[in-house]
Amino acid sequence: MDSFDVIICGSGPAGLSAGLAAASHGAAAVILDRDHMAGRKLCATGNGRCNFSNTVHPLKFMADFGRHGRFMIDALRAAPREFFLELLQQEGIRPTVENEQYYFPLNGRASDVRDAFLRAAKRAGAETRLSAPVVRILVENGFAAGVETESGTVIRAPHVILACGGTAAPALGGTASGLELAKALGHGVREPVAALAPVHVDDPWTAELAGLTVADAELGVTVGTRHVSMRGSLLFTHTGFSGPAALNLSGTVNRVISGGTPARVFLRVLPDKKEQDLYDYLVSERENVPDHLLKNSLARIMPRSLAALVCERLFGEDFHSKRLTNAGAHELAHLLDRIPFTVSKPASMDEAMAMDGGVLLKEVDPRTMESRLVKGVHFAGEILDLTGPTGGYNIQFALSSGRLAGLAAAGAL
Ligand SMILES: Cc1cc2nc3c(=O)[nH]c(=O)nc-3n(C[C@H](O)[C@H](O)[C@H](O)COP(=O)(O)OP(=O)(O)OC[C@H]3O[C@@H](n4cnc5c(N)ncnc54)[C@H](O)[C@@H]3O)c2cc1C
Repeated sequence: MDSFDVIICGSGPAGLSAGLAAASHGAAAVILDRDHMAGRKLCATGNGRCNFSNTVHPLKFMADFGRHGRFMIDALRAAPREFFLELLQQEGIRPTVENEQYYFPLNGRASDVRDAFLRAAKRAGAETRLSAPVVRILVENGFAAGVETESGTVIRAPHVILACGGTAAPALGGTASGLELAKALGHGVREPVAALAPVHVDDPWTAELAGLTVADAELGVTVGTRHVSMRGSLLFTHTGFSGPAALNLSGTVNRVISGGTPARVFLRVLPDKKEQDLYDYLVSERENVPDHLLKNSLARIMPRSLAALVCERLFGEDFHSKRLTNAGAHELAHLLDRIPFTVSKPASMDEAMAMDGGVLLKEVDPRTMESRLVKGVHFAGEILDLTGPTGGYNIQFALSSGRLAGLAAAGAL
């Protein structure tokens, strides 16, 4: 029978980072993956280029994960981005920063990031076994005792790190398997919904605008009595929206729909302007350039194709500014301030880059990533109920939480 000090389930960024940390601190560690390829999803990230971190200040970094972002404070302290930048450089990967914020490997190869972690973990003494799906966590007297794989092999260890990721992108290995293992241990799981996915609207009257990008828009959704919104670049698609603002809002939208009601989504294409500003602008155009087409007036403050479509839908084609009544100006200003859409069909996990949901944070000790229910079981990465926006957040969290779990499991904290 095999035995180790630490078993890591999953060879994504969280598992590789955990395996490296544990082995570097003297633990006999084995990384198991159900796939026949290590870190398959990691190799596909950032369009194959791997946006593995960002330059965002740690306080904002945590806040951008939402209400529970501070859960990761110890992970970021134990394993800040600088640690991984240095590690990658030691492994011959030069990082580069794009748009002053996003870290990528300079050579643009995500697989090199995976290889760097695999190599470092192996050199530190960690073993990697592929095509080894873990089907059961062994627990004895409330303590982790090892795992059983699909082939019936039992591997014993007093520490088991669950770094199995989530259900997003099944074609890249996304699976509920880790969540099932956690549930079998008694852990609560917030049901997964697709996140970092496009938003499909019911009445895509905007389909004509497919391909249009608005550099700075705000997309929001009503959640009970609250409005949650995301700001950033937005892409119109044939079915609704994509681009960072939509991707980052999609988890919240899909969560609302999973509650059984359609989501009420609103779009602001001029997020710095208030409704009154828009009204004043329309009235001043009517007075100063009455013979201009209204759509041309609007096209000076927003994309021409969107201006034309909105004017046409409200007032018909070739409507001149001078014909705009005060009531019409109010109506148009109100619409532009919050263009409403309904979303009743959630995005699928096939379209998602992340899962919203996962193992309940309150059942995990953030200082060690250890389960509060079963001693010796740790969690790291996407399996946890913590999802960040696009832009290197999720891989950084996976790497940092993985390292903290690995250090804790090796007794190195
Ligand atoms: C297309 C795409 C692009 C993305 N781009 C970016 C990006 O540029 N930047 C960014 O920060 N994030 C990006 N993400 C998100 C990022 O990939 C994830 O946040 C990250 O991979 C999570 O790491 P993880 O180690 O927790 O899980 P994963 O990377 O999913 O790894 C989990 C591993 O566990 C294995 N496993 C599962 N169950 C078992 C089991 N029972 N037994 C054994 N092994 C098991 C799986 O096979 C898998 O290899 C992207 C995601 C997708 C889908």
